[in-house]
Amino acid sequence: MGKLQRVKIVDRIDITDQLAVFRMNPENPLQFRPGQCATLAVEDGEKFIYRPYSIASAPDEEILEFFIELVEDGQLTPRLWQMRSGDSLWMRTRAMGVFKLDTARKKHYFFATVTGVAPFLSMLRHEQKHRQGNSFKLIHGASHSADFGVYLEQLHALAREGWLEYIPTVSRPTIDIEWKGEKGRVDDVIRKYCDQWGYDDVTFYLCGHPGMVRNGAAILLRTGLAKDRIRQEEYFQQAEE
Ligand SMILES: Cc1cc2nc3c(=O)[nH]c(=O)nc-3n(C[C@H](O)[C@H](O)[C@H](O)COP(=O)(O)OP(=O)(O)OC[C@H]3O[C@@H](n4cnc5c(N)ncnc54)[C@H](O)[C@@H]3O)c2cc1C
Repeated sequence: MGKLQRVKIVDRIDITDQLAVFRMNPENPLQFRPGQCATLAVEDGEKFIYRPYSIASAPDEEILEFFIELVEDGQLTPRLWQMRSGDSLWMRTRAMGVFKLDTARKKHYFFATVTGVAPFLSMLRHEQKHRQGNSFKLIHGASHSADFGVYLEQLHALAREGWLEYIPTVSRPTIDIEWKGEKGRVDDVIRKYCDQWGYDDVTFYLCGHPGMVRNGAAILLRTGLAKDRIRQEEYFQQAEE
Protein backbone atom coordinates (compact mmCIF):
# COMPACT_ATOMS: atom_id res chain seq x y z
CA MET A 1 0.00 0.00 0.00
CA GLY A 2 2.94 2.37 0.55
CA LYS A 3 3.60 4.80 3.37
CA LEU A 4 1.93 8.16 3.84
CA GLN A 5 3.51 11.54 3.41
CA ARG A 6 2.18 15.06 3.87
CA VAL A 7 1.07 16.96 0.79
CA LYS A 8 0.36 20.67 0.77
CA ILE A 9 -2.27 22.41 -1.37
CA VAL A 10 -0.44 25.20 -3.18
CA ASP A 11 -3.27 26.33 -5.44
CA ARG A 12 -6.97 25.70 -5.84
CA ILE A 13 -9.06 26.81 -8.82
CA ASP A 14 -12.81 26.45 -8.36
CA ILE A 15 -14.35 25.77 -11.75
CA THR A 16 -17.94 25.34 -10.54
CA ASP A 17 -19.37 24.64 -7.07
CA GLN A 18 -18.69 20.95 -7.68
CA LEU A 19 -15.47 20.94 -9.67
CA ALA A 20 -12.01 22.18 -8.74
CA VAL A 21 -8.40 21.89 -9.78
CA PHE A 22 -6.09 21.24 -6.85
CA ARG A 23 -2.34 21.72 -7.21
CA MET A 24 -0.35 20.00 -4.50
CA ASN A 25 3.24 19.78 -3.38
CA PRO A 26 4.22 16.46 -1.76
CA GLU A 27 7.00 16.28 0.86
CA ASN A 28 8.94 13.98 -1.47
CA PRO A 29 8.48 13.83 -5.25
CA LEU A 30 6.03 11.15 -6.38
CA GLN A 31 7.35 8.82 -9.08
CA PHE A 32 4.62 7.96 -11.58
CA ARG A 33 3.85 7.22 -15.20
CA PRO A 34 1.34 9.38 -17.11
CA GLY A 35 -2.13 7.92 -16.49
CA GLN A 36 -1.43 6.70 -12.96
CA CYS A 37 -3.14 7.79 -9.74
CA ALA A 38 -2.06 9.15 -6.41
CA THR A 39 -3.88 8.03 -3.29
CA LEU A 40 -4.99 11.03 -1.25
CA ALA A 41 -5.99 10.58 2.38
CA VAL A 42 -7.69 12.70 5.02
CA GLU A 43 -7.91 12.03 8.73
CA ASP A 44 -11.23 10.96 10.19
CA GLY A 45 -10.76 10.70 13.95
CA GLU A 46 -8.46 7.71 14.54
CA LYS A 47 -8.48 6.52 10.94
CA PHE A 48 -7.76 7.69 7.42
CA ILE A 49 -10.06 7.88 4.43
CA TYR A 50 -8.19 6.98 1.23
CA ARG A 51 -9.26 7.62 -2.36
CA PRO A 52 -7.38 7.34 -5.67
CA TYR A 53 -7.10 10.38 -7.98
CA SER A 54 -5.66 10.42 -11.48
CA ILE A 55 -2.71 12.79 -11.76
CA ALA A 56 -3.27 15.46 -14.41
CA SER A 57 0.27 16.87 -14.34
CA ALA A 58 3.18 15.32 -16.23
CA PRO A 59 5.79 13.31 -14.28
CA ASP A 60 8.53 15.93 -14.55
CA GLU A 61 6.40 18.75 -13.12
CA GLU A 62 7.21 19.50 -9.49
CA ILE A 63 3.61 20.22 -8.50
CA LEU A 64 0.96 17.50 -8.78
CA GLU A 65 -2.32 18.55 -10.33
CA PHE A 66 -5.73 16.95 -9.77
CA PHE A 67 -9.15 17.64 -11.29
CA ILE A 68 -11.70 16.66 -8.66
CA GLU A 69 -15.48 16.54 -8.42
CA LEU A 70 -17.27 17.09 -5.11
CA VAL A 71 -19.52 14.19 -4.12
CA GLU A 72 -21.75 15.94 -1.61
CA ASP A 73 -22.54 12.86 0.49
CA GLY A 74 -19.06 11.42 0.01
CA GLN A 75 -16.44 10.89 2.70
CA LEU A 76 -13.27 12.47 1.30
CA THR A 77 -14.34 15.20 -1.11
CA PRO A 78 -16.49 17.29 1.30
CA ARG A 79 -13.45 17.42 3.62
CA LEU A 80 -11.19 18.38 0.73
CA TRP A 81 -13.61 21.14 -0.28
CA GLN A 82 -13.07 22.81 3.12
CA MET A 83 -9.35 23.07 2.43
CA ARG A 84 -7.55 26.05 0.91
CA SER A 85 -4.06 26.88 -0.35
CA GLY A 86 -1.61 26.30 2.49
CA ASP A 87 -3.62 23.43 4.02
CA SER A 88 -2.16 19.91 4.10
CA LEU A 89 -3.54 16.44 3.72
CA TRP A 90 -1.89 13.04 3.17
CA MET A 91 -0.77 11.06 0.18
CA ARG A 92 0.59 7.55 -0.29
CA THR A 93 4.26 7.63 -1.25
CA ARG A 94 3.60 5.25 -4.17
CA ALA A 95 1.57 5.98 -7.26
CA MET A 96 -0.74 3.24 -8.52
CA GLY A 97 -2.60 2.05 -11.57
CA VAL A 98 -2.12 0.37 -14.92
CA PHE A 99 -4.02 2.92 -17.04
CA LYS A 100 -1.03 3.97 -19.13
CA LEU A 101 -0.26 4.78 -22.73
CA ASP A 102 0.13 1.78 -25.05
CA THR A 103 3.72 2.07 -26.27
CA ALA A 104 3.08 -0.50 -29.02
CA ARG A 105 0.93 1.95 -31.02
CA LYS A 106 1.27 5.56 -32.10
CA LYS A 107 -2.42 6.41 -32.53
CA HIS A 108 -4.52 6.90 -29.41
CA TYR A 109 -8.21 7.80 -29.04
CA PHE A 110 -9.24 9.11 -25.61
CA PHE A 111 -12.83 9.31 -24.29
CA ALA A 112 -13.48 11.10 -21.00
CA THR A 113 -16.32 12.42 -18.88
CA VAL A 114 -15.44 15.68 -17.07
CA THR A 115 -12.69 14.81 -14.52
CA GLY A 116 -11.93 11.60 -16.46
CA VAL A 117 -9.74 13.80 -18.65
CA ALA A 118 -7.08 13.91 -15.88
CA PRO A 119 -4.97 10.89 -16.92
CA PHE A 120 -5.15 12.04 -20.55
CA LEU A 121 -3.90 15.50 -19.58
CA SER A 122 -0.86 13.87 -18.01
CA MET A 123 -0.21 11.76 -21.12
CA LEU A 124 -0.66 14.77 -23.42
CA ARG A 125 1.54 17.08 -21.32
CA HIS A 126 4.21 14.39 -21.25
CA GLU A 127 3.99 13.99 -25.04
CA GLN A 128 4.25 17.75 -25.49
CA LYS A 129 7.53 17.81 -23.55
CA HIS A 130 9.01 14.62 -25.00
CA ARG A 131 7.54 14.18 -28.45
CA GLN A 132 7.43 10.45 -29.27
CA GLY A 133 5.58 10.79 -32.58
CA ASN A 134 2.21 9.85 -31.08
CA SER A 135 -1.06 11.32 -32.34
CA PHE A 136 -4.17 11.68 -30.24
CA LYS A 137 -7.92 12.27 -30.48
CA LEU A 138 -9.80 13.30 -27.35
CA ILE A 139 -13.57 13.41 -26.92
CA HIS A 140 -14.33 15.15 -23.63
CA GLY A 141 -17.89 15.23 -22.34
CA ALA A 142 -19.64 17.34 -19.72
CA SER A 143 -23.17 18.44 -18.89
CA HIS A 144 -22.29 22.11 -19.38
CA SER A 145 -19.39 23.86 -21.07
CA ALA A 146 -18.51 25.56 -17.75
CA ASP A 147 -17.43 22.13 -16.45
CA PHE A 148 -14.43 22.07 -18.81
CA GLY A 149 -13.00 25.02 -16.90
CA VAL A 150 -9.37 25.91 -17.56
CA TYR A 151 -8.88 22.73 -19.58
CA LEU A 152 -11.00 23.85 -22.53
CA GLU A 153 -8.50 26.50 -23.57
CA GLN A 154 -5.46 24.41 -22.55
CA LEU A 155 -6.59 21.49 -24.70
CA HIS A 156 -7.54 23.71 -27.65
CA ALA A 157 -4.04 25.22 -27.38
CA LEU A 158 -2.42 21.76 -27.44
CA ALA A 159 -4.61 20.82 -30.41
CA ARG A 160 -3.24 23.81 -32.34
CA GLU A 161 0.18 22.09 -32.25
CA GLY A 162 -1.22 19.56 -34.73
CA TRP A 163 -0.80 16.19 -33.01
CA LEU A 164 -4.06 16.31 -30.98
CA GLU A 165 -7.66 16.67 -32.10
CA TYR A 166 -9.86 17.87 -29.24
CA ILE A 167 -13.65 17.46 -29.32
CA PRO A 168 -15.41 18.80 -26.22
CA THR A 169 -19.09 17.80 -26.18
CA VAL A 170 -21.93 19.12 -24.03
CA SER A 171 -24.88 16.91 -23.10
CA ARG A 172 -27.30 19.64 -21.95
CA PRO A 173 -26.97 22.29 -24.66
CA THR A 174 -30.46 23.73 -24.07
CA ILE A 175 -29.19 25.50 -20.96
CA ASP A 176 -25.88 26.34 -22.62
CA ILE A 177 -27.11 28.55 -25.44
CA GLU A 178 -23.70 30.07 -26.22
CA TRP A 179 -22.16 26.64 -26.87
CA LYS A 180 -21.19 26.21 -30.54
CA GLY A 181 -19.30 22.91 -30.21
CA GLU A 182 -20.38 19.26 -30.35
CA LYS A 183 -23.57 18.24 -28.55
CA GLY A 184 -24.46 14.96 -26.90
CA ARG A 185 -22.93 12.56 -24.45
CA VAL A 186 -19.53 11.02 -25.21
CA ASP A 187 -21.05 7.63 -26.02
CA ASP A 188 -23.57 9.31 -28.37
CA VAL A 189 -20.77 10.65 -30.57
CA ILE A 190 -18.13 7.88 -30.37
CA ARG A 191 -19.23 6.14 -33.59
CA LYS A 192 -19.63 9.38 -35.52
CA TYR A 193 -16.01 10.38 -34.89
CA CYS A 194 -14.37 6.94 -34.93
CA ASP A 195 -15.99 6.06 -38.26
CA GLN A 196 -14.49 9.28 -39.62
CA TRP A 197 -11.05 8.84 -38.03
CA GLY A 198 -10.69 5.10 -38.69
CA TYR A 199 -9.97 2.15 -36.42
CA ASP A 200 -6.72 0.72 -37.81
CA ASP A 201 -3.70 0.64 -35.54
CA VAL A 202 -5.38 2.64 -32.77
CA THR A 203 -5.56 2.03 -29.02
CA PHE A 204 -8.77 3.26 -27.37
CA TYR A 205 -9.02 4.59 -23.81
CA LEU A 206 -12.14 5.37 -21.77
CA CYS A 207 -12.07 7.10 -18.39
CA GLY A 208 -14.49 8.53 -15.85
CA HIS A 209 -18.19 7.84 -15.34
CA PRO A 210 -18.78 4.05 -15.31
CA GLY A 211 -21.87 4.41 -17.53
CA MET A 212 -19.88 6.10 -20.30
CA VAL A 213 -16.92 3.75 -19.89
CA ARG A 214 -19.05 0.59 -20.20
CA ASN A 215 -21.33 1.92 -22.92
CA GLY A 216 -18.41 3.33 -24.84
CA ALA A 217 -16.46 0.06 -24.63
CA ALA A 218 -19.54 -1.91 -25.77
CA ILE A 219 -19.99 0.44 -28.73
CA LEU A 220 -16.34 -0.01 -29.72
CA LEU A 221 -16.48 -3.79 -29.30
CA ARG A 222 -19.52 -3.94 -31.58
CA THR A 223 -17.37 -2.53 -34.39
CA GLY A 224 -15.37 -5.76 -34.19
CA LEU A 225 -12.39 -4.44 -32.21
CA ALA A 226 -10.44 -6.90 -30.09
CA LYS A 227 -10.78 -6.34 -26.32
CA ASP A 228 -7.07 -5.71 -25.89
CA ARG A 229 -7.32 -2.57 -28.04
CA ILE A 230 -9.50 -0.91 -25.36
CA ARG A 231 -8.27 0.37 -21.97
CA GLN A 232 -10.75 1.40 -19.27
CA GLU A 233 -10.69 3.31 -15.98
CA GLU A 234 -13.96 3.65 -14.04
CA TYR A 235 -14.00 6.27 -11.29
CA PHE A 236 -16.76 4.82 -9.12
CA GLN A 237 -19.42 2.14 -8.84
CA GLN A 238 -22.92 3.11 -9.77
CA ALA A 239 -25.27 3.12 -6.76
CA GLU A 240 -27.79 0.68 -8.30
CA GLU A 241 -25.10 -2.02 -8.71
C1 LIG B 1 -8.57 4.81 -10.52
C2 LIG B 1 -9.44 5.95 -10.04
C3 LIG B 1 -9.09 7.27 -10.33
C4 LIG B 1 -9.91 8.32 -9.92
N1 LIG B 1 -9.58 9.60 -10.26
C5 LIG B 1 -10.42 10.62 -9.94
C6 LIG B 1 -10.16 11.97 -10.39
O1 LIG B 1 -9.16 12.26 -11.05
N2 LIG B 1 -11.05 12.94 -10.03
C7 LIG B 1 -12.17 12.65 -9.29
O2 LIG B 1 -12.96 13.57 -9.00
N3 LIG B 1 -12.43 11.39 -8.86
C8 LIG B 1 -11.59 10.39 -9.16
N4 LIG B 1 -11.86 9.12 -8.72
C9 LIG B 1 -12.97 8.92 -7.77
C10 LIG B 1 -12.44 9.12 -6.34
O3 LIG B 1 -11.52 8.09 -6.02
C11 LIG B 1 -13.58 9.08 -5.29
O4 LIG B 1 -14.32 7.92 -5.45
C12 LIG B 1 -14.51 10.28 -5.38
O5 LIG B 1 -13.77 11.50 -5.24
C13 LIG B 1 -15.57 10.24 -4.27
O6 LIG B 1 -14.93 10.15 -3.02
P1 LIG B 1 -15.73 10.49 -1.68
O7 LIG B 1 -14.98 9.83 -0.55
O8 LIG B 1 -16.00 11.93 -1.57
O9 LIG B 1 -17.12 9.77 -1.89
P2 LIG B 1 -17.49 8.27 -1.45
O10 LIG B 1 -17.77 8.25 0.01
O11 LIG B 1 -16.41 7.35 -1.94
O12 LIG B 1 -18.73 8.02 -2.36
C14 LIG B 1 -20.07 8.13 -1.97
C15 LIG B 1 -20.96 7.57 -3.08
O13 LIG B 1 -20.88 8.38 -4.27
C16 LIG B 1 -20.56 7.59 -5.41
N5 LIG B 1 -19.64 8.39 -6.24
C17 LIG B 1 -18.30 8.48 -6.11
N6 LIG B 1 -17.79 9.36 -7.01
C18 LIG B 1 -18.84 9.82 -7.71
C19 LIG B 1 -18.96 10.74 -8.77
N7 LIG B 1 -17.91 11.37 -9.32
N8 LIG B 1 -20.21 10.98 -9.26
C20 LIG B 1 -21.28 10.38 -8.73
N9 LIG B 1 -21.23 9.49 -7.72
C21 LIG B 1 -20.03 9.20 -7.22
C22 LIG B 1 -19.89 6.33 -4.87
O14 LIG B 1 -20.15 5.23 -5.74
C23 LIG B 1 -20.57 6.15 -3.53
O15 LIG B 1 -21.77 5.43 -3.69
C24 LIG B 1 -11.06 8.05 -9.15
C25 LIG B 1 -11.38 6.73 -8.83
C26 LIG B 1 -10.61 5.69 -9.28
C27 LIG B 1 -11.01 4.26 -8.95
